[in-house]
Parts: sequence; C-alpha cells; structure tokens
Amino acid sequence: MPYEKQTRELAAEIGAEQVRTDADSCFAASFDNSRFSFMPDAVVRPRGEDDVAATLRLANARRVPVTVRGAGSGCAGAAAPLRGGWVLQLAHWRQISVDAAAAIATVQPGALTGDIDAAAARHGLCYPPDPSSVKYCTIGGNIATNAGGLRAAKYGVCRDYVVALEGFLPTGEFVRWGGAVRKYASGYNMRDLWIGSEGTLGVITKAVLKLLPRPPLRHTLLAAFPDDEAALAAATALLATHLTPAVLEFLDSLSVTCAERRNGFQVFPPAEFSRRDGRPPAVLLAELDGFDAGALAADAARLRTWARENAAAFRETDVPADAEKLWNARRTCSQAMFQLGNAKLNEDVVVPLSGYLPLIRCAREIHASTGLATPTFGHAADGNFHIHIMYDRDVPEQCRRAEAGIGQMMRKVVELGGAITGEHGIGITKSPFLRLQHSEPEIAAMMAIRRALDPNGILAPGQIFDVTNIWEHRPVKVVLPWDKH
Ligand SMILES: Cc1cc2nc3c(=O)[nH]c(=O)nc-3n(C[C@H](O)[C@H](O)[C@H](O)COP(=O)(O)OP(=O)(O)OC[C@H]3O[C@@H](n4cnc5c(N)ncnc54)[C@H](O)[C@@H]3O)c2cc1C
Repeated sequence: MPYEKQTRELAAEIGAEQVRTDADSCFAASFDNSRFSFMPDAVVRPRGEDDVAATLRLANARRVPVTVRGAGSGCAGAAAPLRGGWVLQLAHWRQISVDAAAAIATVQPGALTGDIDAAAARHGLCYPPDPSSVKYCTIGGNIATNAGGLRAAKYGVCRDYVVALEGFLPTGEFVRWGGAVRKYASGYNMRDLWIGSEGTLGVITKAVLKLLPRPPLRHTLLAAFPDDEAALAAATALLATHLTPAVLEFLDSLSVTCAERRNGFQVFPPAEFSRRDGRPPAVLLAELDGFDAGALAADAARLRTWARENAAAFRETDVPADAEKLWNARRTCSQAMFQLGNAKLNEDVVVPLSGYLPLIRCAREIHASTGLATPTFGHAADGNFHIHIMYDRDVPEQCRRAEAGIGQMMRKVVELGGAITGEHGIGITKSPFLRLQHSEPEIAAMMAIRRALDPNGILAPGQIFDVTNIWEHRPVKVVLPWDKH
C-alpha cells in the first residue's frame, strides 16, 4: 500500500471504524459501471463534515489522492481511484428534507435520486431529472456529472434544479455556494462550476434542489417505423410541431430486436407491423404529461395526428399500467444488448437536429467497417444518443476494432457540431477524446481553474485531463445491482 503510513495517521485522527482497508471494501470502491478497477489504499466513510475536512486536510499535507464516490453507477470511470489513495464514500449520507411551500428539497449527497422524487411526491411535487439509474444513483453523483434523464426532453437536466451547494474545497475549507433562495447574484457562480466537475473541484456535502408541481396525468404513445432513419426523421418532424413531450425516446431496430428476444414477445405484432425482411421496427416512445385533462387530450390529439402522418403503426394509452407495457422495450433494451457481445462501449454523444441522420448512418458505417453490432437508443428530443459498440473483450482483434470504431464516432460527432458526452462526463473513458472537443486554450483555462482550487492535485488526480488508454486495462467481471433488471 503506497499510502499505508498516511492511512494509519488518518485512522488515528478520525477513528479506525471510518477508515476501511480490507480487500473487499477496497475492491468494491475501485470501479464504477465502466468496470475499470484501480485499487485504493482505503475507503473513508466520514461520520460528518469534520471527518471530511480532516481527511482533505491530511490528504493535502501528505499528498494523498482522494476520490469522492456516490453509488458508483457512473459510466465514465470518474469514481475510480485512478492513482490510488483514499476513496471518500458518501453514499450513506442520505437525509432528505422537503419544504413544500417553497418547493425545495435540502438533501445530503448520498440521497438516492429516486428517493428524492418519492419524498417530493408526498407533497404533490416532483424532482424531474430521472436518469435510468434513478433507483441506484446518488444526488452527489448526479450533480457531479450533471446527469440527464428520460424527462430531460421537457424538464432539462440536473443543473436546472440545483439552487445551492455546500461542501469543501479540495484543500479542506468549508464553502457555501448560494442559499435556499430563488435568486442569488452575489459573486462568481461557483455552484455551476461544481456541477459537472466530476469530483475534481470540491466535495459536495449538501444540495438545495428546486422541485416542481407533480403532473398527475400522462399520455403515452409508442410508434413503429420501417427503419431507423424514418424514425429519426419523424422525431424531427414532431419537434417542429413544438409539442413538448416529457419523453421522446428513440430505439433503433437492433435495440428493439434485442428487447424482443429477451422478453419473448414482439413489440408490434405482425398484424400491426411487418417488414419484408422480418426485422422489428425502429420505434419512438413519446409521453405527454400535464395537469388539465382537456389540455392533455388536445395535445394527445396533435400527437396522434403526427403518428398517423409519420408512423407505420402506433399504440397509445392514458392508463399507467398499460403505459408500462409500452415502456417495456425501452426499459429492457440496454441489458438485452449483451446478446450481441460480452462487453459494450456505451457512449452518450449529442448532436444537433441536423446531425440525427448522419449520426445513425455513422453507426451503420462503424458496423460495416468493424463487423461489430452498434445498437443505438437515445433521447431524441435533445439529440443525446447512446450508441453502443458490442464486442468480445477476450478477443484482442475485436477490441482493436471497437477502439477504431469509437474513434470514428467521436470524430463524426465533433464534425457534426455535437458533444462527445451529454450526461456521463469525461472521466477516464472519454479522456482520449477531450482534445477532439476542446482547443488547447480551452483545456488550459479548465486546468488553471483546477490548479487554483486544488494546488496539490488531491482530488481525483488523472481524471478528465490525463489521457487514459482503457485498452491497457481489463474491466473486472462483476454483477452490479442494476445488471439484474
Ligand atoms: C443502468 C444505468 C443507467 C444510467 N442512466 C443514466 C441516465 O439516464 N442519465 C445519466 O445522466 N446517467 C445515467 N447513468 C450513469 C450514472 O447513473 C450517473 O452518472 C449518476 O449521476 C452517477 O451517480 P453515482 O451516485 O453512481 O455517482 P458515482 O458513479 O459514484 O460518481 C460519479 C462522479 O461523481 C463524483 N461524485 C460523487 N459524489 C460526489 C460528491 N458528493 N461530491 C463531489 N463529487 C461527487 C465522483 O467523484 C465521480 O466523478 C446510468 C448508469 C447506469 C448503470
């Protein structure tokens, strides 16, 4: 253990129970959903803010790397302790308190996103950002990655709901960015700098979140299209109507194929939709929500007109239990893809509307040039698509082709005026592509901020800016809680 002496010192200062050095604890904190494992020297479970401050102060004095961790569901390897040292685990800090009159929630960083929404629901309110991992991920992780979600189509992402943050600078001083007030114009907006900074600029220990009234009504429509391009063209046609669905999800035909094989039934039976080659349709899942039955019915009528004009078939419902059936393929397609390879590169690129068709064509070109399957689904209202490259991690030749494919995609995304990541962040997995997206002056400005706040390079060293070649590391084979669903 490179930091054994410093770890003993920390245990003496904050208590041995708070500092775990056993192999199981260290292994469990060594990777996230990307499964690239880097062993820490210890996992620190602070009892309170004093322990956080003490940990950071000692880390600075002794130059020990510290990586903050929520639930470890991140997909970019950002919670992996790349340079060892201490993992600061905050998932057990789970308090949530709702001020219903002010429509705000004050939460600790380990509060699960789904629990925050459930607490808001008890007051007729909602916390709209809903990553698919909502049952597992923490609000600290959401803020640090600026997480998106399925309802981002209408409601935006995590950043849009963070009113104020509290926590510690990398050097261990307590700071408060904003308060539980609706307007705040004092000083630099450091709150927004922390959001999406992937645990590199500070440790979040409290967040004040904006809540919205909870819409009680939903109208869900699943539409089938003969191919991927027709579905994406229809999505752009729908957006042009300025009808604002809360959800607009795209699944390409291959994603639907995977979901159908896993679930054992066809999303659209042959009587409703059939293609000459027998393949399933590409689909769009649209969901409207609202408070007024009349207004929702009027919007549903507009959605139906769009479906009649654009889709080969569609099904719709206002009944929540039936809506779940329409959601089934979307909820299951991600895990179902493992039929196509034992590993996947799960990208979360963003392109402007004009880039939808070129992007899906690029996915097909990657399939043609690499021979690897590229199932794609995504958030069609904001251009945030999850293109996956499926491969066999045990076959070096397939790894080489997957690596070439991912490079091809990232270059295309930047060429289309898009973003190499829309919600997962850079972490380690996208670090090789950071310089495709940003100029040297842009990177220098970001690194200058990081150096100013973290002069000793304590927090998450190596993350984001150092190029990590993931192909030199073998992901660990583990089953994580979300893999079972
Ligand atoms: C099945 C599945 C579905 C997913 N769907 C989505 C989706 O729809 N949208 C989406 O955006 N993401 C999605 N994700 C990715 C992931 O859930 C999110 O990135 C989530 O925000 C990570 O939260 P976490 O608690 O697991 O954070 P971790 O993975 O533990 O950490 C993520 C980052 O946050 C930092 N961090 C954590 N807590 C703090 C803190 N208190 N202070 C400072 N930094 C901190 C870490 O250092 C790290 O950089 C999905 C993941 C899975 C496995």
